Order: sequence, then structure tokens, then C-alpha cells
Amino acid sequence: MNTQRASAALALLRDESAALARAAWRGLLPRRLSGRIAAVFLVLLLILQLLSLSSLRTLIKANAEAQMQRELDVAARIWTSELNGRINSVALGSSLLARDAGFVQAAGMRDAPTIESALESLAGRIDAGLSAAVDTQGALLAVHPADDAAARRSLQQVVTDMHPQHPQRPQQLRSAVTLLGVQPYLVVSSPLPRQIGGHVLMGFALDRALLDNVHHKSSAHVALLSTQTDGSIVVVGSTLPAVQHAALSGGSAQGERVVLDGETMVVRRVRLTDQASAHVLLLGSIDEAMKPYLALQRDLLWITLAGLALFALAGKYVARRVTTPLRSLVRASERLGRGDYELGLQHLEREDEVGELARAFDHMRVNIAGHQKEIRQLAYWDRLTGLPNRAQFRAALQQAVDSGQAGAVAMLDLDRFKHVNDVMGFAFGDLLLKAVGERLAAQVLRPGDMVARLSGDEFALLLPCSDSAQALVVAQRMAAALALPLTLQEQTVDLSAGIGIACWPLHGTDADVLLSRAEVAMYAAKRKLAVALLYDPAIDSGSAETLSLLSELRRAIEHNELRLFLQPKMALHDGAMVGAEALVRWMHPQRGMVPPMEFIPFAEQTGFVRQLTLWMLEATASRWHALSALGLQRVSVNLSTRDLMDPDLPERIAAILRRHAVPATAICLEITESAIMDEPQRAEATLNVLAAAGHRLSIDDFGTGYSSLAYLKRLPVHELKIDKSFVMNMEHDVADAKIVRSTIDLAHNMGLEVVAEGVENQAAWDALALLGCDEAQGYHMAKPMAATEMAAFAAGWKTRAPAPAPATAISLPKVGQLARPTEPCAS
Ligand code: C2E
Ligand code: CA
Ligand code: CA
Repeated sequence: MNTQRASAALALLRDESAALARAAWRGLLPRRLSGRIAAVFLVLLLILQLLSLSSLRTLIKANAEAQMQRELDVAARIWTSELNGRINSVALGSSLLARDAGFVQAAGMRDAPTIESALESLAGRIDAGLSAAVDTQGALLAVHPADDAAARRSLQQVVTDMHPQHPQRPQQLRSAVTLLGVQPYLVVSSPLPRQIGGHVLMGFALDRALLDNVHHKSSAHVALLSTQTDGSIVVVGSTLPAVQHAALSGGSAQGERVVLDGETMVVRRVRLTDQASAHVLLLGSIDEAMKPYLALQRDLLWITLAGLALFALAGKYVARRVTTPLRSLVRASERLGRGDYELGLQHLEREDEVGELARAFDHMRVNIAGHQKEIRQLAYWDRLTGLPNRAQFRAALQQAVDSGQAGAVAMLDLDRFKHVNDVMGFAFGDLLLKAVGERLAAQVLRPGDMVARLSGDEFALLLPCSDSAQALVVAQRMAAALALPLTLQEQTVDLSAGIGIACWPLHGTDADVLLSRAEVAMYAAKRKLAVALLYDPAIDSGSAETLSLLSELRRAIEHNELRLFLQPKMALHDGAMVGAEALVRWMHPQRGMVPPMEFIPFAEQTGFVRQLTLWMLEATASRWHALSALGLQRVSVNLSTRDLMDPDLPERIAAILRRHAVPATAICLEITESAIMDEPQRAEATLNVLAAAGHRLSIDDFGTGYSSLAYLKRLPVHELKIDKSFVMNMEHDVADAKIVRSTIDLAHNMGLEVVAEGVENQAAWDALALLGCDEAQGYHMAKPMAATEMAAFAAGWKTRAPAPAPATAISLPKVGQLARPTEPCAS
């Protein structure tokens, strides 16, 4: 357990120290790429140089040693020849002595004093320190120096050593070493003539002169060592400097190498004779041999250092040449990152990879700059109309506001444009928007104004230096420009729009605030069916007002403030009251009777209209039996877009009718074209279910929208209600008369019944009766009335119901006489 823990701790320590080492290494490495490149190459060069220096050193050492060995070989040969030279000269001297008659005679007579003096004179001549004459028996006849007992003993020993077996035949020249004290002597024995017998010994000291000779001739140092009788070795003499000589005397010189005073020397041991009493050391200094190379090594070191410095500089330069353009590329890419595409790249002219990279980068920059320009173009211009878009308009508006001059912004939104798109297709819708843009630009714009398409069918005009009155004049011109019918692809379209105006600095000094206030005014204009409205804080209590109106509407239902009003419908052929339209009224506790146009659009916007529709159905159904008793065949209830989008609507209606035991055939449902066109598919699905349930379906306000009869024919409708705007104008406007007549004819051809609303006088009644219109509704017969008043009205109506009109009561223009309509149709 403990060892495990210990090894884990060790491993941890190892990891940590490795990490530390790595960090240290990273810390050592230069941060910049150029520095790193230079550093790596420097280190490599350093390693290479160190390797070559060390191998050179080994080589030099081996070389020096081999040279030293050769020198020692030479020294050994010199030593041998020196020694032989001495031996030969001694032998020559001895042979001279053997031929000396006086000496021969003295030897024969064993005349010691004479022999001694002959020896003395010869020793003096040939520089022999010891000499002796030996008889055939090995006895010393005479010794020089005669009174030296130690010399005598030494020579006697030499005689004994030289002739142990055959003392009587000392024919050859022999040599031996003997010590006199510590001083070794080389003793040479030469035979005397046969007739005398015996021999002569001549010994000379192995002295410093001999060593110096060898040293001078060979450059190796020479040392002479003698082994004493007690076994100790004494350095008798050497050519070494005093310090080294002392070092040699102090230590042993056993190996092949000796270090003397810090100098390494190769040692060669040369034996003098067979005896071990003395030997010579030849010493060669390796350090000395390496000396000539030292300078070389030093030079090499300098060259290396200079090379490193040069390399560092060159590396730095080369790395700079690579990294400087890289850095400039980095800066360029940073600029690109910031969205600055203006400045071109550097180093494009270089022919290497850096140049290639720079060119690729620059190519990219140019491309991006191009795209960027396109994107900017897209960002500020509307592609469809070629007009400035919202972003540009907003910027221009803010600029105009900031200029300090007062001005106005007018916003315009086409009515029912969505339906144009749905019915005529998007391509047609696009053409229409383009045409509207062109009209505004050509007919409304004053110098200095700007027109922009903000979105969909929303356009805006920037009117600098205009007050609210001038802006309203421009708005009138906008309405007039749109009022002219537009013919596109052989289809004539009537345009109308709501226009809202906001002025600065009166209504704000922020572009967004001004735009949103112009928009508020625009929606108010649409609601109030006004051409243009100037922003007024009263129409924009904003969401607070919306909320309060919504809660007021809810309360209206809870507190029973809504009233069911009914407007009778008469059969034109006999004047009988056959039906009625259910119309809502709001008895507001403070505001009194609120007309539906003041809250129905809002109820439709918020979706509250669905509750309202159900309330109307409930109110109608609850009265049905009473109404039926008055002779009514059905009551018409209005549905809105929101109702049609509710898939549960048919079931909800059915439930109400069940509760009051009212048949579905008693309820006619009026739907405007626009309600259907908001989402034709879903509307169609709901209409199919409602028709299948037995309801009569009526297209309300027919003629104000864009739907064609051909399309309506696909729907399960039973009735068309010609919009009151045509009916009310019929007597004065031939175009409206024509529309009414052709609508009745076409509807009948398609098997639909026709109801005319807005019948305000007898002439209209008569004309419609003549055209074969089926039913009429209007102030001429009755204004909408409280449901409770219907019984009284029905009783009165019986007495004043008009008789069928005579066929000639009204003269209608023939189709060929009709002029083109000059007035747009009101919606
Ligand atoms: P609408 O469906 O076209 O209703 C007919 C409108 O024409 C009624 O206006 C009616 O009073 C008016 N009118 C009838 N005869 C004449 C006439 O001879 N001359 C003139 N000048 N006007 C005539 P009202 O009641 O003000 O309703 C306006 C609109 O409000 C309705 O138009 C309808 O769209 C909507 N509305 C009214 N009640 C309801 C309702 O219960 N539900 C829904 N969804 N909409 C309703
Ligand atoms: Ca209606
Ligand atoms: Ca209507």
C-alpha cells in the first residue's frame, strides 16, 4: 500500500518536473517565429560544431600519442646507440691496454702497482670511473680506484655475476650494471690476450651527460632509476625540469602514463641489462605534442564563435524576410476582420511563396470588397422598385432631422394589396408596387424630397422643409396620383391607400419615433377612411388605449351593452319583407350609441370579433321564432376573416341554433370578398362546411374587391350583395349603373341571387326591379332598427309596400354609350 502510494507520488513528481522542464523550455524559446527559427538553427549549428570539435580533439589526441610513441621509439634507439657507443669506446680502450707490452708483462708477473697505474691511465683516457684487471680464476689483480673498498666489492660482484659458470673462458665482450651507492655504472668486460688470460673491467657512470645527450637528440625526456637492495627506487638523474623531477621521485612511475606537475606523459621503460638494479625511463609529453594543435583548436573555436554570430545574424535576416511579410499579412487580415477592405496588400511583387500568399490574400480582399459593395447596395436599395429602402430612408430622415430644419414624413400603405397578390399572383403584385413607386416619384416628389419603399406595400416620403399644412397638400397629391386607375397586363386596378403624416420637431426628433408616429397616423386614416391624417397624440394612446378598448368591449358583452339591430330586406318583385341583416350596435354608458365602424375593425384586429359574432348569432337565434312569425325567411349575419379562420365556427353556430331550435336555412352568412381572400384555402374549407350544414352564403360588398366572378363560382355561395356605393350612385353614374346591371346578369347566369344594399330612394328601387335584382335593402325601406321594433315595422310595411315598378320607370344607358369610369370605387 505504502509503496504504491510512494510510486504514485513519484510519478506525480516526475510529471510535474517534466511539465516544469517543458514550461522552462517554452520560456527559453523566443516568442517570435523569426527568433525561434534563428534559435533552432543556432542550437543545431552549435551541436554540430561541438561534435566536430570534440571528434577533432580525440583525433588530435590519438595523433599526438602516436607521434609520441614514435618519438619514444626514436629515443630508445638513440639511447641504445649512445650506450653502445660508450661500450665500444670502452672496449677499444681495453683492447689497447691488452696490447700494451708493459701492462702484459705486469699482468704476467701480477705486479699490482704497475697494473693499477696502467688501469688508471687508461681509465683517465676513456673516462671510466671504475676499472679492474681480473685473472683467469676471477680474482681481482688490481682495482682502480685502488683504495675504494666499495668499488672493489662492486667489481668483485660483477665478476661473480658475469662468470658464474665459466669463469675460465671470458672470451666475449660483456657488460653489466652495478651500483656504487645509488649511482649505476655500466661495466664492460674485455678479454686479455690468450697468453696472459683473464680480462679487464671498465665501468663508467651512467651520468647526466649521457641522459642530456639522448634528450637533445630525441626531445624525449630521460630519467635514470636505480633499485636499491631494500627494493626502493631512486631517481638518479633526469632531464626533466626540477619540479617534474621531484614529482617523479615522489611518486611511482609504474604505468604507461604519468602525470607530472599537471603534464601528461607517455612512459617507455628501457632495461639496461638483464639485472633489474637500474633502468631508464623515456618520457614524452602528450601535452607538448598537442601544443601545435592547441592553436588550431583555438582558431577553430574562434571560427565557430564567429560562425555562430554570423549565422545568428543571417538567420535573423532570413527569418525577418519571411516573418515581416507574414506579420504584414496578419495585420492585413486583422484589417479585413474589422471590415476594412480598402488598403491593398504589400509584398505582391515577391516571386516566392510569400508573394503567392500575399497575392491570394489580395485577391480575396478584392472579392470581398466587391461583395461588400453589393451587399451595401442591397442594404440600402429596394431591389423591386429601385427606390431607397427603409434603412436608407431612416438614415436620410435622421440626417434631415439633425440638420435643424423642420420637416415631415408621410407614410402610405395600399389598401387590400394582399388580396391583389392572392388573386392576381405575385408577379402582378410586384408590377403594381413598381408602378406605385414610379407614380409617387413622378407625380408627387418635389425637388429635395425622397420616396422609399419601406416594406411590402408600404411607401414613405421624406418632405424636408415642410410644415404640416404643406405635408397634407403633398398627401392629397399622393392620393390623387393613386386615384387614377392603373392598367397592368390589360387589367385595370383601382388603388387607394391610407396616408399618415408626422412632423419634426413637433412629433419627435428621432427617425424611428417619427416613422412609428407616421404609421400610427396612417392606420388611423385607414380606420377613419380618411385620405390622410396628421399624427395626433390623441389617436396614439398606444397600447394602453388598445387594452382599455378591449376591456371595454369585453365589459360590453358582460354588461349587456350590445344591441341587435335589424335592417329589413325586401323582395323586389312584390315588396314583401323576406329577410333582415343583423347589425351590431354598442350602447356605450358614456359615449352613447357607438357606430360599428368605430370598433369592428379594432375587434377584427384583436380577434375579439369572434366573440362578437357568436353574440350576434345568439341574439338572432333567440329572436328567430318571433321574426319568422313576421314572415321573414331568414336573417343575415356578418362574418369576418377571423371567423372564417376558425375551424370550429360551424360547430359553434350549430350549437347555438340547436339550443334555440333554429334551422340552419334561417341564417344567411355574409362574407366580404376580402375576408375570403385573406386566406382563400382555409376560408373555402369553412364555407364548404357551412354550406353543407344548410346555411345560405352571401358575398358582401361585392364589387369593391378584386375577386372575379369566375373564382367566386367555385365557392358554395348562393347570393351576391352589390355594394351600396354602386347602388347609391346608380342614377347619376352610368358606369355604376353598368356595373350593377352586368353584375345582376352575370350572377343570374351563374345561378346566384342578387341583393342590392344602399337603396335610398324609389328610383333605385324601380331600376333594380327592372334589372331583375332579387332583393333590396336600404334606408328607403328602413334604417337598421332595434330588433324589438321589427314587429311594429312589419305591421306598417304591409300598408306602404311599393307595387311592382313599371318597365319604363327608368331609362338605363345602353352598354355602348357607357364612358370609362372616371371616379375610383369607394371601398
Ligand atoms: P355592411 O355589412 O355592408 O352593412 C351594411 C351597412 O350599410 C350598415 O351600416 C347599414 O346601416 C348601411 N346601410 C344600409 N342601407 C343603407 C342605405 O340606404 N344608405 C347608406 N348610406 N347606408 C346604408 P352599419 O350598420 O353602420 O355597419 C357598417 C358595417 O359594420 C357593416 O357593413 C359591417 O361590415 C359591419 N358590421 C355591422 N354589424 C356587424 C356585425 O355584427 N358583425 C360584423 N362582422 N360586422 C358588422
Ligand atoms: Ca353586411
Ligand atoms: Ca355591405
